[in-house]
This record gives sequence, structure tokens and C-alpha cells, in this order.
Amino acid sequence: MSNLPEPIVIPRSDHCVSRKSISSNALKVLYRLNEAGFASYLVGGGVRDLLLERHPKDFDIATDASPEEVKELFRNCRLIGRRFRLAHVVFGREIIEVATFRADHSDGDGGATGESGRIVRDNVFGGSLAEDAVRRDFTVNAMYYNIADFSVVDFYEGRADIENRLLRFIGNASERVVEDPVRALRAVRFAAKLDFAIDDSVREAIDEHRHLLKEIPPARLFEEVLKLLQSGDGQDSFAMLRELDLLQFLFPLTAVRLDAGDGYAHALAELALRNTDKRIREEQPVTPAFIYAVLLWPDVVEHAARHEAAGEASIAALHLAADEIIPTQLSATSLPRRYSVPMREIWALQPRLLKARGKRAASLLSNPRFRAAYDFLCLRNDAGEDLESICKRWEELQESPESQAIIEAARKQSRPAARRRRRRPQADKG
Ligand code: ATP
Ligand code: MG
Repeated sequence: MSNLPEPIVIPRSDHCVSRKSISSNALKVLYRLNEAGFASYLVGGGVRDLLLERHPKDFDIATDASPEEVKELFRNCRLIGRRFRLAHVVFGREIIEVATFRADHSDGDGGATGESGRIVRDNVFGGSLAEDAVRRDFTVNAMYYNIADFSVVDFYEGRADIENRLLRFIGNASERVVEDPVRALRAVRFAAKLDFAIDDSVREAIDEHRHLLKEIPPARLFEEVLKLLQSGDGQDSFAMLRELDLLQFLFPLTAVRLDAGDGYAHALAELALRNTDKRIREEQPVTPAFIYAVLLWPDVVEHAARHEAAGEASIAALHLAADEIIPTQLSATSLPRRYSVPMREIWALQPRLLKARGKRAASLLSNPRFRAAYDFLCLRNDAGEDLESICKRWEELQESPESQAIIEAARKQSRPAARRRRRRPQADKG
């Protein structure tokens, strides 16, 4: 590529990125690549967040070593991804993602752009740092910390955008969204998380091309939902998804309700996301089963009411409703069974919580999903349903140490024996 910009090189004395704030594993990878004679840079959120004096979620590295060459240097390395091949260097729970500089692939073999202009494969290695930068999404995500001299290399005035707290695409905004419509969701995520403004050009591009999100596989959208709603800024992200009219691609049923001014659905979503954000701040566990259960509930209730009116018992009616609602949701985002099953259980426990008394009530305490279902009941109350006295009754019932022990034992039992390590979703780079 010929018309790539000359970067600004910010020397160590002029920026605040310090090795002390970089994880020792990331440093290990950076140094080893460098010592083997390869270029080796920290890039992406790692550099951006350190410049903002925030803790990066993870550390991504860019190098001119091919994935195979990276693998040869690290015993604990595995190669992943088809569309965008990467090396993962694994240190226990920490995974350092190492991406090889890509070259321009307009007519190469390893790259491909679909008819619609969407990037479907990007595996032509051997590019330069400048070529690596131009394929990234936002200016603030294309800054490189060079382990060789500790400078920060800035191609697209990312540092100025960080200072102005502005999200701007590299290059033509409209093309960037067409190449990868998920970048619209990434704009929302970063704006909410970093408290940045979204540049008008980005908003216009989203306006023009948001419909392309319909073509993104539901599994990839589910991964984005997790990052949007379960990273501690769920409430802001959700509000911004609505503002940019993107919610329809993630939660179509919820979007219709909110657009129609459904106050109950709105209150439920707000409360659930506020709770989720709070739990994350307090390092308590969160699960998509709960968030999905909340967002889909108003539709489930509506369908269940129809089945009850036709003579079904309340729990059966809820299951029939779930059978109708879940497929609509799955056409937008996937929801793995390990979440959809507990989601249904939370729903099915609602009528039981309303009715159970005495021994039945006590036995509900030992249901592994009791606590989530009870929290859900309280949320319904807070959202305006009149369930105050029932919530109170359950609160009192739980108070005794015996009850606490039963609930805790049931919860432990429901947890998988060995926690599976969550794999990082495959990065998708344009
Ligand atoms: P965080 O890890 O805090 O969520 P991040 O900016 O590091 O934010 P990642 O998804 O980890 O985001 O991706 C790392 C980097 O890879 C990004 O900063 C960006 O440069 C590039 N990247 C990731 N996804 C895309 C994409 N869809 N299009 C273009 N570049 C991307
Ligand atoms: Mg990252």
C-alpha cells in the first residue's frame, strides 16, 4: 500500500505507558519475540487503556512473526481462528493474543471480501506496521507500544482522540461498517466503557448500514452481547444501543416493546442491568441466563397468558410460551443451552414462588435455581408488579441459618465440578 500515513512516534518521556502496568506474561511474550529478532508491539485496548490510566482487560500483541514462528517460540501456544488466524500464548487463566501483521490482500489468496464488501478472510501475512494499523477499527485502537524502545507509535492521531475522548474510525467510516458491521456494536461498547463521544461520521455510517448486522452469525452477536452487557457498563451500553437503534439486532422482541413505550419492560431492563453492573463492581458472578430471562420475560408472560386462557396450567403455559419466544431470540443472537436451560427454570419457578407455602416452600429453597428465581421475583416487584408481600415472605423464610445452608448447598451442587476456562472469542479484525 502506498498512501499509508507516516506515524507520530511518541518517545517514552512523552507518554505514561509503563512496563509496570503491563502484565508480566505480556512482557514475557513481547521480549521473547523481540529477542528472536521480530518486531513486537503491544496494541489495541492495552495501549489505549494505559494511556487513559485504566486497567486493560487483556493484552494484545502485534508482530511480524508468522503464527507458526510464534508457535515455535512458545511451548504454551496454540493457533486459532480461520477467518483471522492468530496465536494464543496461554499462561494459566491469562491468554496473550498475538496477531501477525497482515498485508494488503486485494487480490491475494489468503484474504477475501464477500460480494457485499464484508471481509470474510484476512490471512495474508507479511505486512508492515502501517498495513497492520490501517486494518484496525478506531484510531484509539491503532496505537502501538514498541518494546524495543518503549515509544508509542500513533498512525491516526489516536492520542489526540484519546485526549478529546472521541471514537473515530480509521479511514472511510461507511466502508469500515460495511467491511464489518459488528464495528457498530464495538462503537457502542467503547463509547459506554470509556465514556467517549461517537463521532458524527461514525453515527452516519451506522445509520446507513445498520441493517447489515442481520447478516452476522448469531454466535458472534452473542459474544458481543456478553461484552456489551456483562463488562460492567451494561446500563450505559444498553441505553446507547437504543439511542443508535441497534438493539433490534440483538433483542428484537425487547426493542419492539421499548419502542412502543412499554414502561414495565423498560423498568425491568434498567433494574437488571443496574444490578448486573453493581455485581460486577463487587466481583459477584453474573450470568447471561438472568439477563436474557429478564429481557424476554414480558413476551413470555404475554404468550403464557394466552395459553392459560386456553386452559393450560401456569407452568405448562410458561414452557409453551418459552418454546415460542426462544426461537425468535435465537435468530438474532445464539444462547447456548447452558444458559437457556437455567433461563427457562427461572421462568418456570415464578408461579411456584407465588403459590408455595409450608413444606413446599421449604423444598423450593433447595432448588439450585431458587436464588436466581427469587432475585427475579424481587426485580418484577421493583419494576412495578405488586409482589411486595410475597417477596417479604421469601426474604423472611431465607433468613434462618438452616435455610441459608440449604440454599448454599443447592447452589454448590448446581455448579459444574470443574470450571471450564472461558475461551476468548476469536478476534475479528478487518
Ligand atoms: P477490550 O479488550 O478492552 O475489549 P480492545 O480494543 O483490546 O478492547 P479487542 O476485541 O480485544 O478490543 O481487539 C483488540 C484490537 O484488535 C482492537 O483494539 C482493534 O485494534 C483490533 N480489532 C478487534 N476487532 C476488530 C474489528 N472487528 N475490526 C477492526 N479491528 C479490530
Ligand atoms: Mg483487548
